[in-house]
Amino acid sequence: MSHDILPNIPSPKNKIIAYVRNTNILFLGLILILIMTMAAIMALDITNRASKRLADLYAIETVGRFNLQVKQDNLMEFADILPSIQLHYDEMLDSLFAHYDLKNVKGYIIDNHGIIQISSTRQERHEDKIHINALNSDAQFCAEIETHLQNINGYFDSKTEAKAIKLARGPYGYASIAPIIDTDWSVVTFFDHNSLYSVWNLLPLLITLLSAFLIYTLINGIVMRRVVLLPLDRLTKSLTAQKLNASEIFGRDRKDEIGELARTMQKMWDHLGIDNANLLHAARERERLIRIDQLTNIPNRRNFDERLPLEWGRAVRTKTPLSLLILDLDYFKNYNDTYGHIQGDKALRLVAKIFAQELRRPGDLVARWGGEEFVVLLADTDINGAIDVANRIRLNVEKMEIPLFDNFISKITVSIGVNTIIPTTSDSLEDFIRNADTALYTAKKEGRNKVFQHKE
Ligand code: GH3
Ligand code: MG
Ligand code: MG
Repeated sequence: MSHDILPNIPSPKNKIIAYVRNTNILFLGLILILIMTMAAIMALDITNRASKRLADLYAIETVGRFNLQVKQDNLMEFADILPSIQLHYDEMLDSLFAHYDLKNVKGYIIDNHGIIQISSTRQERHEDKIHINALNSDAQFCAEIETHLQNINGYFDSKTEAKAIKLARGPYGYASIAPIIDTDWSVVTFFDHNSLYSVWNLLPLLITLLSAFLIYTLINGIVMRRVVLLPLDRLTKSLTAQKLNASEIFGRDRKDEIGELARTMQKMWDHLGIDNANLLHAARERERLIRIDQLTNIPNRRNFDERLPLEWGRAVRTKTPLSLLILDLDYFKNYNDTYGHIQGDKALRLVAKIFAQELRRPGDLVARWGGEEFVVLLADTDINGAIDVANRIRLNVEKMEIPLFDNFISKITVSIGVNTIIPTTSDSLEDFIRNADTALYTAKKEGRNKVFQHKE
C-alpha cells in the first residue's frame, strides 16, 4: 500500500553532493592553477630582472678589480707586455674573476676591436685573436657589441656603465658589456639565468600544495559523508521504507537541517497517510458502488457484463457447463399500477433478496438486468442444476408474501428462461444470452410463473 505512494523515489543526495564536491574541486583546481601561473610569471619576471642586474654587477665588479690590479698608466703598454708576463697574467686572471661562480658565469676582457684579451675560462687566449662575437651568434648581442665598440671612445673619462643584453640563443640568458674606465678595453660577462631557478627547488612547494589539496578533498569527502550523506541516506531510506501506519522517520530529533527536513517530512507523511487512507476507502467504496444496483443492493448490469465473458472464458478452458437464468416478474406493470411504484420498488427489493439467498456458491452471480428483469449466472452448473435453482427461486417467490398496508399482503410470480452450454471457441456468447431470452419468452407465453429451458 504505502510503497504505491512513494514508489522508488530516486535519492538525489549523491547527485547533490557530487555536484557540490565537483564544483569545489573545479574551483580549487582553477584557483591553484591561477595562483601557480601568477607565481610562475612573477618568478620569471623577478629572475629576468635579477639576471640582468647580476650580469651587470659581475661586469662592473670585474671592471673595478681590473682597475685595482692594473695600475699602469697606459693600457697599451700592458697589452704589449701581456704575453711576456705569463706568471703574473695567471695570478691576475685568478684575481679578476675570483668572485665568479664559474659554473654559471663567465667573463672576458676584450680590446677595442672586440678581440678577447683575457678569459675567465682560460680557453680563449689573446694570442688566438678570437672575436667576442664568435662566442655567441645571437644577433642582438652582436649588434650591441658592434655599437659598443664604435662608441668606445665616448666612454673615456666617464663612469662605468654596464649594458645588459638578453640572449635569445645559447645556455646563457644574459650578457653584460661594461667599458673599463680610462682604457679602450671592456668587460663582457655571460650570466646563466637558469641557475637562478630550479624545478627541483620548487618540488617541496609543489608537493606541499598538492598534499594540502588532497587532504582538503579527503577531509571534505569524509565530513560531507558523515554530516550530510549518511543522515540523508538514512532519512531517504526511512521514508521509502515507511508503511502507512508507521511513523518512524529518521532524524526527527536532530537539531540540524536534516532534523528540520525529517520533521517536515513526518508532518507531510502523517497528513498523506490520513488523506490516503480516506482516499483509498472512498475509491474502494466508489468501485463497489458502481457495480451495485442502488434499489435492490445486488450486483448490477455492469457487474454482470464484466463477469459473463470471464465465466464464459473459464468454461471454454475447463470445458465445464455454464448456465444462465433470465428472470422476469410477471405482470409487474399491473403490480405497479395497482399498488404504486413505491410498493413496486419494495417488491423488487424483496425478490432480489430471495434470489441472493438462493445462490450461495461463490461462482454464482445474480444481477439486476434492468427494470423488473434479473439474471443469474451459474458457473460449473449443468442444465439439471440450473433448472433446480430456477424452480427453487420460482417457488420461493410464489410463496413470498409482500406486505401491504393494514396487514394486507400481495403476491408476485416470476418466469424464468434457462440456458446451459459447455461452450467452445466456436460458440457465441450473444446466442447463449438470446437463447435464454427465448426460453423466458416461451415461459411467458406458456402462462407465466414457469421455468423453461432452451432446447436446440
Ligand atoms: P410480463 O409478465 O409480460 O413481464 O408483464 P410485465 O408487466 O411485467 O411486463 P413489462 O415489461 O411490460 O412491464 C415491466 C414493468 O416493470 C414496467 C414498469 O412499470 C415496471 N418496472 C420496471 N422497472 C421498475 C422499477 O425500478 N420500479 C418499479 N416499481 N417498477 C418497475
Ligand atoms: Mg419485462
Ligand atoms: Mg415482466
